[in-house]
Amino acid sequence: MLRVVVLGAAAGGGVPQWNCGCPVCRQARDGHSELASTQASIAISADGEHWYLINASPDLRQQLIATPQLHPKAGQLRHSPISGVILTNGEIDAVAGLLSMREGSPFTIYAHAKVLSILKANSIFNVLNEKNVRRQPIEVDEAFEPALPDGSPCGIEVLPFAVAGKAAWYLEGAVHPGGADAAGDTLGLRLRDKATGKYLYFLAACAEVTDDLKARLAGATLIFFDGTVWRDDELIRAGLGNKTGQGMGHIAMSGDHGAIESLAGLDIGRKVFLHINNSNPALLRDSDERKIAERAGWQIPADGTEITL
Ligand SMILES: [Zn+2]
Repeated sequence: MLRVVVLGAAAGGGVPQWNCGCPVCRQARDGHSELASTQASIAISADGEHWYLINASPDLRQQLIATPQLHPKAGQLRHSPISGVILTNGEIDAVAGLLSMREGSPFTIYAHAKVLSILKANSIFNVLNEKNVRRQPIEVDEAFEPALPDGSPCGIEVLPFAVAGKAAWYLEGAVHPGGADAAGDTLGLRLRDKATGKYLYFLAACAEVTDDLKARLAGATLIFFDGTVWRDDELIRAGLGNKTGQGMGHIAMSGDHGAIESLAGLDIGRKVFLHINNSNPALLRDSDERKIAERAGWQIPADGTEITL
């Protein structure tokens, strides 16, 4: 049985975002705490005892406090159920949480060489001593099985694959420490329970649903999918910024070639949006956008939601 906990469902900035007065952020501060959400990350486990984080958000400390499954075992002076962190990109909202895991407990970071090159080029990540925190390169289209602390396999097969996306925002116009080749900056993951054969997909960033991606996702038990914006130009229209969703490497939920339309009719068991920006009106429970998403079979999860498959 695969257990999945949604640690956070929001895009960068979270809900509410520290400097944002948009309708969603205002309501989240003002009596609607159900709208509050931390930055996107999930935790998965095949045995309920050892867990792997998919991305480490800047809100990780708060997420771990709120998640009993990830607390140290009773009676142990130093312990964490977290055996590894699998990174799907090098954005701040995927890697900054690593800095909150610097107190000497061993775990392994699994990431593409391009993302590992970013960690290596930023000496602040040296607080994660490589004696304790191993950095394991992963390859596109090469399945691997993370190891438990005793070296035995964890029971979850992870298949990383390339997804249309962009290098981290802070590298725009800069020289990428991992080279100019775009491959490896944005990964999707298939996570398969080896005992049952059931699998889920994780795509927190995706700029385009290609035919190849549709073929992959068809028939999946569960997908977590990029829900950053409702419409491509929503930040500009709301006066919140000058970037489009596409400009940030994210497909919109709505519209022609949006996620809802592109992934309709693919026989996917459960469809969950993740990495939802606070500008996205689908966050509001009584909005037309939320109703459209739900009618199309999509869910917007609350932090702490546990799903088993
Ligand atoms: Zn806002």
